[in-house]
Amino acid sequence: MIFYQNYNIMKQEEINFKDNKDKFLGGYIKTMNILVINCGSSSLKYQLIDMSNESVLAKGLAERIGIEGSRIKHEPTGKDKVLIEKDMPDHKAALEIVTNALVDGEIGSIASMDEISAVGHRVVHGGEKFSASVIIDENVMKGIEECINIAPLHNPPNIMGIRACQELMPNVPMVAVFDTAFHQTMPEDSYIYALPYELYEKYKIRRYGAHGTSHKYVAYRTAELLGKDLSELKLITCHLGNGASIAAIKNGKVVDTSMGFTPLEGLIMGTRCGDIDPAIVPFIMEKENLTPSEVSDLLNKKSGVLGISGVSSDFRDIEDAMAAGNHRAKLSLEIFNNAVVKYIGSYAAIMDGVDAIIFTAGLGENSKEAREEICKYFTYLGVELDLEANDMRGKERVVSTENSKVKVMVVPTNEELMIARDTLGLVK
Ligand code: AMP
Repeated sequence: MIFYQNYNIMKQEEINFKDNKDKFLGGYIKTMNILVINCGSSSLKYQLIDMSNESVLAKGLAERIGIEGSRIKHEPTGKDKVLIEKDMPDHKAALEIVTNALVDGEIGSIASMDEISAVGHRVVHGGEKFSASVIIDENVMKGIEECINIAPLHNPPNIMGIRACQELMPNVPMVAVFDTAFHQTMPEDSYIYALPYELYEKYKIRRYGAHGTSHKYVAYRTAELLGKDLSELKLITCHLGNGASIAAIKNGKVVDTSMGFTPLEGLIMGTRCGDIDPAIVPFIMEKENLTPSEVSDLLNKKSGVLGISGVSSDFRDIEDAMAAGNHRAKLSLEIFNNAVVKYIGSYAAIMDGVDAIIFTAGLGENSKEAREEICKYFTYLGVELDLEANDMRGKERVVSTENSKVKVMVVPTNEELMIARDTLGLVK
């Protein structure tokens, strides 16, 4: 690891240093490089992808933006990883350092900013306004701002990231890719809650779902791997990571998904409670004297497998604790698996069958035990797991037997690539 303690921030005018372009690449070349940006409140994740072959040129993470000790972990492909320690008061400062790193003579991957064709931004919430990715203009910005109401923690940093990019790259087209968009095909009877209908009309309280970009990538990739058209398949995609959600995708359209108005609904997760009796919420608020934000913190950050086990939100720690005989760790995993099984079963029912069940994200891709535990409940559907094929981590593959009536697959997710593909598709 190289430590760049005194990394100099270059000025905007210096960023497009054209001489370097000639020096490195021997003249002007047209590129298809897409920069993918994912901003959190104090973080900025990025990936620069060469879309001519979909290879990652560089990726990294800026952390502690606006907090003391800010730093960027920069990973240029084929070169040493770099830790850049530098004050970053805001997302614009972070992005300035990131772009400097991308074009730097030593640690960079491209010769100049001219080689970035477009920027794709992950935007958490698109509400009912956005059912697909869009090229960003002021109207789109207004739409994203209007969704702050339903995603108060997530959309503001996404907006900050877009604004920062617009300032630093004023002539580069930008695309917004929404986490909710893929789920917008859900029919009314999946997304309306049994609450007074006026609450939907007044506040747009309904199921939106999340992880849409991941479910979309996995669904398309599955169709590709099976050599079928997505429009002829019934799929159940299981994104099982620290956040977890399941989607029922029939003929290429999401017909239901487990996350709801917010990502709190559905499966139990690392720290989120998932489905509970809603009457519990006012009950705990009264008993524990909690404010709305305190109870939201309890349900989002102190519940799930962490809350049940008291051990950790990380499934690896839970599996270790279980192996050491910890009852609550075992219980938390059983409750998690039960929730996954119930959703898969109900989604097979609403689609009147399923062609493939796909596992993705940290736990889904890596835990053969979880896949085994979950799949054993679906022998009635004709699922037959190939234990040998299943005994592998993080690799794209079919893990069911030849005879299995339903294919079971592991497809590692790639949200950044999906964002880059959508971006390229729109700006081309
Ligand atoms: P993600 O949110 O997709 O990054 O997934 C993170 C979760 O995946 C964490 O809870 C990890 O414990 C879990 N995970 C990653 N690798 C493994 C593994 N080998 N076995 C079990 N869980 C894993």
